[in-house]
Amino acid sequence: MVRLLGLVWLVLMAVGCAEDVTTRIAVGPSASSRYGLVQDAVDAINEEIGEDVFELIAITGDRPSHDWAPVVIVDELADGVGAEVRHSDDGLQICITTRTNVVQLAHEFGHAAGLEHTRSYDNLMFRSATKLGLNQAQRKYLRQMREP
Ligand SMILES: [Zn+2]
Repeated sequence: MVRLLGLVWLVLMAVGCAEDVTTRIAVGPSASSRYGLVQDAVDAINEEIGEDVFELIAITGDRPSHDWAPVVIVDELADGVGAEVRHSDDGLQICITTRTNVVQLAHEFGHAAGLEHTRSYDNLMFRSATKLGLNQAQRKYLRQMREP
């Protein structure tokens, strides 16, 4: 059964239906006023990884793509949510508000790259993270995500 699921996953990957993951963060018109925040979050997570894994690119629209995840500003997110990744058929979108901070945004970069939540309160992938920390396994995973 596990082998069969693995095969299904491979086939889905081959036709591009599997969930997107990316380390390329895009800023278009929507989030241009928060370019500095996005830059700070990219720098902060790269420093925590110890390598420049995440890349910030400028785009002319705000459309998601399978090659990057645009940061877009939305009016409101659910209570207690600082930022969130939304999945669509066209790719990922990272939604922020005018109040999103660096740690909240870097946490979403982690999700965009495929990281899941941890239970350590001092970890970036803690559900309501307040710190930038990553563990060895997370660093290793992110390093192998680096674009060749
Ligand atoms: Zn999260």
